Amino acid sequence: MKIITDIAEMKRISKDLKKPHGRVSFIPTMGKLHGGHIRLIEEGKKYGKTVVSIFVNPMQFGMDEDFKNYPRDLENDAKILRGLNIAYLFSPATDIVKNTETFVAGPKYSNQLEGIFRPEHFRGVLTIVMKLFCIINPDFAFFGLKDYQQYILIKKMARDYFLDVQIIPVETVREKCGLAMSSRNTYFNETDKKNACNFHKSLKKTADLFKAGEKSGGKLTLFAIKELIKSGFEIDYAKIMDKGLSIEKQSVEAGDILISAIRFKGVRLIDNIFFE
Ligand code: AMP
Repeated sequence: MKIITDIAEMKRISKDLKKPHGRVSFIPTMGKLHGGHIRLIEEGKKYGKTVVSIFVNPMQFGMDEDFKNYPRDLENDAKILRGLNIAYLFSPATDIVKNTETFVAGPKYSNQLEGIFRPEHFRGVLTIVMKLFCIINPDFAFFGLKDYQQYILIKKMARDYFLDVQIIPVETVREKCGLAMSSRNTYFNETDKKNACNFHKSLKKTADLFKAGEKSGGKLTLFAIKELIKSGFEIDYAKIMDKGLSIEKQSVEAGDILISAIRFKGVRLIDNIFFE
């Protein structure tokens, strides 16, 4: 596997990969790879020659967030990627973001949900993903549904800027207990990680209540909130939205989503579940 740090070299390689009729799949990550990332990569391999990037993007962390302590393990990540037969890992230096004067901002409603609690986050995400797209020029890019709001915004960015990239969503990969895999799960000790499993369980119970016939958005949301509080979570938000994330639902239908962020033992987690 070739580890590329230089932007011009990555551009050259990506151009070559597309000759004469090659398709490039791209999976952007912040590293400390886990089963969720691996699923994205496996999916990418089905579509084209696969490039993975690892970059802990300072622009998407707030002042009081965990940028400095965010788990990094490039050596082990490279080992995982070699095991997956990945030929190219793009691991740019921070000059990819240094001195940036123009930014990609999300639409007004990106200020809701995550946007309320992480006001600069999506601007940082969209800007770095746009930069990576400009360097790699992929035909396909893969994003996890765990970060659902991010997926929606990336899709809108690709549409608004007429990018020649197809954005492919990938199902959330979970631990056996239902906890969504996340690099941040490494912050937990074993007991706390076990308790964190109640996050998904609470969302699942709410989805089950819908299946059993409860359609009131208010009642379902209240139920979810009570469940989350019972488990000792501090809730940033728990909302039932339409799948485009444009309105909060009063009357819930199949296809709507319950989307939530909580804090537990100093770790912030996000997750969601679709109503069926
Ligand atoms: P990150 O390294 O956390 O920035 O994530 C990189 C990509 O992996 C994003 O598209 C995430 O949505 C996706 N991802 C992270 N965790 C999971 C998971 N448990 N299942 C599926 N995709 C995930």
